[in-house]
Amino acid sequence: MGKLRKPSRKSQTCTKCKKRKVLSSFRILNPGYLDSWCKKCFKEYQEQYRKNYYKKWRKYSQTRDQKLKQEVIKTYGGKCKCCGETISEFLTIDCKKNGVELHKKFRYGTNFYRWLKKHNYPKRNFQLLCMNCNFAKGMYGKCPHKMAFKQ
Ligand SMILES: [Zn+2]
Ligand SMILES: [Zn+2]
Ligand SMILES: [Zn+2]
Repeated sequence: MGKLRKPSRKSQTCTKCKKRKVLSSFRILNPGYLDSWCKKCFKEYQEQYRKNYYKKWRKYSQTRDQKLKQEVIKTYGGKCKCCGETISEFLTIDCKKNGVELHKKFRYGTNFYRWLKKHNYPKRNFQLLCMNCNFAKGMYGKCPHKMAFKQ
């Protein structure tokens, strides 16, 4: 935002875009004082500011979510209960039968992790599985890893 400037003419030069514009193109900051940036420049600045702010905020919330997920994974043993996968990007919390309703309510992701944390990481109905095993379990009722052992 520019400095205040007392208008003396019918137009003034925007200190940002260096264009000469009629006074109505400038915002009135105080009675008798106009912004030294034109409305267009101010709007652009505002939008840029908002974008940057949003980016920062998103980055912050992502790292925060990431930390929470790491905590969840560590608490639930750090690896897939079925195949032993340890790469956190693959890991997810699986609900055993009684917990299914509850899981549906939260779906996957941060809300669910927050919920787990709030309830002191209940172990009874939850276990750590990788995406593969979790998906297979949902699809076939049992992970092929387990079926293979039985054959
Ligand atoms: Zn301007
Ligand atoms: Zn697995
Ligand atoms: Zn498996």
